[in-house]
Amino acid sequence: MNSTNGSRVHPRYEVAVIGAGFGGIGAGVALRRAGIENFVIIDKWPKVGGTWLANTYPGVAVDVPSPVYNFSFQPRSRWSRFFAPGNEIQRYAEEVVDRQGLRAKLRLGKGTVRGAFDEADDLWRLTLDDGSEVTARFVIGAVGGLEQPNTPPIPGIDEYTGTIMHSSRWDHDYDYRGQRVAVIGTGATALQAIPELAKDVARLCVYQRRAIWIGPKPDFAMGPVLNGVLAFAPLQKTVRLVGNIGVNAGLGAGLAVSNYPRLTSVGLTLGETALKGFLFTQVRDPELRRKLTPDYRLGCKRPSISNDYFKTFTRPHVDLVTERIERFTRTGIVSADGVEREFDMAVCATGFKVMEKGYTPPYPIYGRDGIELGAFWDENRFQAYQGVSVPGFPNSFLITGPYGYAPGSYIPLIESTAAHAARVITETRRRGATRAEVRQEPHDRYFARMDKRAKRTHLFTQGCVTSNTYYINYQGDGAAFRPSTQLEMYWENRHFPLDDYRYTGGVSAAAPRSRHRGRARPRTAAAAPDAAR
Ligand code: NAP
Repeated sequence: MNSTNGSRVHPRYEVAVIGAGFGGIGAGVALRRAGIENFVIIDKWPKVGGTWLANTYPGVAVDVPSPVYNFSFQPRSRWSRFFAPGNEIQRYAEEVVDRQGLRAKLRLGKGTVRGAFDEADDLWRLTLDDGSEVTARFVIGAVGGLEQPNTPPIPGIDEYTGTIMHSSRWDHDYDYRGQRVAVIGTGATALQAIPELAKDVARLCVYQRRAIWIGPKPDFAMGPVLNGVLAFAPLQKTVRLVGNIGVNAGLGAGLAVSNYPRLTSVGLTLGETALKGFLFTQVRDPELRRKLTPDYRLGCKRPSISNDYFKTFTRPHVDLVTERIERFTRTGIVSADGVEREFDMAVCATGFKVMEKGYTPPYPIYGRDGIELGAFWDENRFQAYQGVSVPGFPNSFLITGPYGYAPGSYIPLIESTAAHAARVITETRRRGATRAEVRQEPHDRYFARMDKRAKRTHLFTQGCVTSNTYYINYQGDGAAFRPSTQLEMYWENRHFPLDDYRYTGGVSAAAPRSRHRGRARPRTAAAAPDAAR
């Protein structure tokens, strides 16, 4: 319930975080570390974990080494494998929530359907799917960039009478063992699911539109000895640091800004040769190898790793179809060569809506003067200062916004953008203000710098023309990534001038001023008032 003081309405919460995945959890921890306790974390799912709760398809696993894929403030040294399965990562999210004192802040099973900034009172009004309203001085949007399933608009798909599911909405009630199964898509998700499905189904048919670059996966059981060694804190920190640099280099190399395109091309050719060599060791049939070799250059799309994906196609009951899908029938799929195949189940491993109008953000958000964020981005191109804030949308921050994600593990991104939001909120408190809005000029400078860099990456060269990469959006911009190192992302989010924001409004009664300036020590869970209920 809101309270009033004089003529101004005061929000129920100081901060509302939307999303209880790794982004929302990281934001919650950043807030507590800044001494901010009156916040709520809202999520449509009944548990925390975000992508690791939503994605439960067979074979789901992290493709960043587990000792690297964890928060700096809560490393874990109990992994079953070097690349842990998805449910283990979800359990880790639960552990973080408990240890960091976030459990009482959660409001789960409530989807946000609308957000609007109330200019009279400098607060956000969020409408939830049960019709209730949450008011908060600040909002942190942590809904993730790969969240809205892309269901392919294939003719006839609605008439198909078999079981159909998107990879991120797996129906575990359906028993696919012994069935005839189709998989549409060959991205990072499909390459994990295909080998697992092939173990149990009668027939597997994979519809590939484009091949994907794949390297070997150095996966192994961790066991007590390795986990024990990793529990030694200095070693753990070193492994995280070196691992993050490695993942940053591995995923970022193809996106590196280059003034030397020839040199880039030579580097990419070396990488491609190595990956083709790996494919050669897996598949003997030259025709199958040709089909599994991408026709675009390494780095145009996110490459991945697997030890059993290629070999699965050499099994007698597995087919790779490279003809375009023409349509679904009631019982199967017809490809462009006229061949109809019947299936009991079809899996759409067809990815997500990334930086698309109507999906990013996934619900309408109205800022100053009633401007809606999706419409604003559609008209003015996707943009956000440091990937976090947009002029016209005061007191609002994004964890994975446009030009925010420097390729690598998502964890350093989350920690960087959450730190950015916590810095601005702390500064707003310190100044006794109620509104913080990024200034136009620093925002424009950042946008121009990132846009210029993005257009100088390999992504915009001839070699990527056929890749259909989601790194480039429908506006022709490389907005889904930040063309920088993760080090730059880390540094700039923690050190941008606080005057890049304009602070206005009166003293907030909802926010008792912190005794700590920006770098407050974390409070214990016991000391935190139960503000979320
Ligand atoms: P994706 O990389 O976007 O791949 C989607 C696949 O579906 C592509 O092969 C695409 O073909 C195909 N496709 C889409 N629409 C189609 C249509 N209408 N007809 C036929 N084929 C169609 O999606 P994803 O595999 O789900 O991966 C998304 C992202 O999730 C990855 O890039 C990665 O960042 C993340 N991920 C991470 C992990 C992890 O372990 N951490 C695991 C899985 C995924 P085209 O290539 O021709 O477009």
